[in-house]
Amino acid sequence: MANKMHVKKDDIVQVISGKDKGKTGKVLAAFPDEGKVRVEGVNILTKHKKPSQAMQQGGIIREEGKIDASNVLLNCDKCGRGVRTGVQITEDGKKVRVCKKCGQVLDN
Ligand SMILES: [Zn+2]
Repeated sequence: MANKMHVKKDDIVQVISGKDKGKTGKVLAAFPDEGKVRVEGVNILTKHKKPSQAMQQGGIIREEGKIDASNVLLNCDKCGRGVRTGVQITEDGKKVRVCKKCGQVLDN
């Protein structure tokens, strides 16, 4: 079974360390086995591509590199920043993540 991470695809997260510290973006992909995520606009890597059949011009490709999931926090709308989250069980037995600071439920 894959490790459970505190963030998942389509979450809005804030980066708390590294060169993109403070940036907020959407999780494009989560890699629970590696404990890593790829976040929109964060850790942009540029790769020079030689011309190929698919891309006749060649050129520079920009894409998000993976970062450690421990470097991001789920963003709380109410707090307006990344926050530590806790888990709460709703009345109908669903597990939801809640902001530890303001108590806002961060899952629908
Ligand atoms: Zn909050």
